Amino acid sequence: MTTCPNCGSDKTRRGGNTIWIVYLVLIALAIPAVLLLHFNAALAGAIMLAAIVIAHLVIKQRVCVDCGHQWQG
Ligand SMILES: [Zn+2]
Repeated sequence: MTTCPNCGSDKTRRGGNTIWIVYLVLIALAIPAVLLLHFNAALAGAIMLAAIVIAHLVIKQRVCVDCGHQWQG
């Protein structure tokens, strides 16, 4: 199990600011693509899910639930 390098807590989860920025960018791209360009909504959703999975694999950022520390790994 992964422990926090800052406080030693084992209550950690994937996420962090980098992942949130990826989510926001994806949403900001998907909404106008669907509404303005009439892009297929189901296809846009599938692409977003794939991009989120890839982002988690690439970024590997973790957050400590107890102290809020964020680190790579
Ligand atoms: Zn911690």
